[in-house]
Amino acid sequence: MSSGFGIDHLPYGVFSVAGGPRRVGVRYGNGVLDLHAATGRPEFDQPSLNAFLALGPEVWRQTREEVAGLVEAADLVPLADAVLHLPVEVADYVDFYASLDHASNVGRIFRPDGEALTPNWRHLPIGYHGRAGTVVVSGTPVTRPSGQRKAPDETAPTYGPSRRLDIEAELGFVVGAPSELGSAVPFAGLADHVFGVTGLNDWSARDIQAWEYVPLGPFLGKSFATSISPWVTPLAALDAAWVDLPEQDPVPLPYLGPGATRGLDIAVQIELNGEVVSRPPYRTMYWSPAQMLAHLTVNGASLRTGDLFASGTISGPEPGQRGSFLELSWGGKEPFTTGDGTSHTFLEDGDEVVIRYSAPATGGGRIAMGEVAGRVERAR
Ligand code: MN
Repeated sequence: MSSGFGIDHLPYGVFSVAGGPRRVGVRYGNGVLDLHAATGRPEFDQPSLNAFLALGPEVWRQTREEVAGLVEAADLVPLADAVLHLPVEVADYVDFYASLDHASNVGRIFRPDGEALTPNWRHLPIGYHGRAGTVVVSGTPVTRPSGQRKAPDETAPTYGPSRRLDIEAELGFVVGAPSELGSAVPFAGLADHVFGVTGLNDWSARDIQAWEYVPLGPFLGKSFATSISPWVTPLAALDAAWVDLPEQDPVPLPYLGPGATRGLDIAVQIELNGEVVSRPPYRTMYWSPAQMLAHLTVNGASLRTGDLFASGTISGPEPGQRGSFLELSWGGKEPFTTGDGTSHTFLEDGDEVVIRYSAPATGGGRIAMGEVAGRVERAR
């Protein structure tokens, strides 16, 4: 099967048919395996993956084996008949800032006269707590947010619809197994807690963000919507995608892991109104998923089933690898032209963004991870 959704992938999601109940399913080709119908297990007769995720890595492994033995002969629900829902009831949501190229670009754009990176950047994976309740599934329209905006040359803020609406192409990591309050998750604990990976678009209103973010970080410029893919790719399907990340200098503190850090060779593609505008590589990120998880819990903060932490914007070193329109248009100063001849800086009402992801498959070839789509609707 060449769809990218073959036997070596088998991602999990939540679907319904003809207004029926939401249930957990696994995608195989262009069909969905109804896991409750196939296994009778109660954790699949649920409107989210959370009950299954809470069972932990040994059950995830056994279930993946069982599903691989079932899908070939099973009666699948045609994908075209399935409505796909938010796969996870998101508990806490944290967004990082793990790309050196993205952080450097944003630093140069926002602080042209200062250092591109803040003094802490190479010592810890910077992050902030986002709004879990506004994480939505791919395909959900995004209403242009309104708020306070103040351009650098304006003397006072005004209220109104964002004039600098943007995307951030990211990966999301879904936590299944919880951790104990007061205990840190070690660097080596990623696979004990993280079930899988989603595509993620951290919609961002740059004008609202630029005015509000000092000194406590992003708030209303980010909290209006975060889109994730309907399919969660299990970490087990990414066994062939692990690569060494670029060297870290200085060597981080011991709790952030020994020597070489391992990341995922996931290729990202951003489309605006059907035209490819960028191809960011996740393999050039600075901070790894294991480092983000270790840092997130080093103070004893516990993990809950359904926690979601995201990579931060994925940007590579080349101009065609930038993961936001802020960077692609260099702060709005350098409009870019898409294949259909139209010129762009930030998002206009009616624009549709689709972010696609693919990774090396365990059996050779590639898996296509769930896509993240969203159309901008005018402010209300
Ligand atoms: Mn972000």
